Amino acid sequence: MNTLLMSVDFEDWHQIVHRRLGLADWHRPGPALRRQSRETLDMLDRLGVRATFFILGMTADAYPREVEEIAARGHEIASHGYAHYRVFDQSPDEFHADIAKSVEVIEGITGVRPVGYRAPAFSINRRTVWAYEVLADLGFLWDSSQNDSPRIPNRIQGIPETPYAFTEPGGAEMWEFPLAVAQVRGRAVPVAGGSYWRVLPRRMVASALRGRAPGASGALYTHPYELGSRGLRADLPPGASARLRLNGLARGLKANPGRRRVAKCLRYLARDFRLTTYGEAFDEHQRHGQRPRSLSREGSIV
Ligand SMILES: [Zn+2]
Repeated sequence: MNTLLMSVDFEDWHQIVHRRLGLADWHRPGPALRRQSRETLDMLDRLGVRATFFILGMTADAYPREVEEIAARGHEIASHGYAHYRVFDQSPDEFHADIAKSVEVIEGITGVRPVGYRAPAFSINRRTVWAYEVLADLGFLWDSSQNDSPRIPNRIQGIPETPYAFTEPGGAEMWEFPLAVAQVRGRAVPVAGGSYWRVLPRRMVASALRGRAPGASGALYTHPYELGSRGLRADLPPGASARLRLNGLARGLKANPGRRRVAKCLRYLARDFRLTTYGEAFDEHQRHGQRPRSLSREGSIV
């Protein structure tokens, strides 16, 4: 059976939106993620799917019970960093501190030291090749931050469609699981999840994934706020200014259209494919071995 790698980027939409809106208590936990996590975990149980959860450190700090529950239900624990700032907006030292903090929080709650990482907004690019050296230093063995999306500037060049071993410029070996893409008339179209599942018909996503080249990556992603049954609202404090309310409304308008399609797409895919963790794929690839490619300091895979 055709296998896909399932992942959930475990973050609180409200934390991120409230921080962007400049609210002082943006990091506080709220009821929405609790409900979304329960719904996500129940749905994965019903589908018989074990997934990889890329846990955001600041969200784990606010919702330790939910993170414990993810581990207790048998899902794989990986890191999404701590504060959800894009890698190319950080210095190497800031990035190191962010990842180290995420590892400490995640390990403290689950007892598992993560070895897999995904960058916020897939933001490891040609300008931040050093990120892999930082990750290797902190004991990470694999990454899934490469997504062939036109929204990512300065992408690393020469990225294969298949999972691949590579040597980062510091000399350590890692594996990369690029997000799944479909080739449509010679152009790569991202079909791995998130906002794309909100607009593409699920039959088209399934057929693109079924028709991908032999060995091509089947790495997928979604978020608890896309799988939860209730719509997203910024929930601003009483007395919020009109400007803030308008901003909050705009965030909801951006996040809600097509959101319900995401769960439907996942259920549809689970009927036709075997969905498993990235860690299982990593073990499998490692067993078969592969001569690593090499990532240059300039940001090309050769
Ligand atoms: Zn994220």
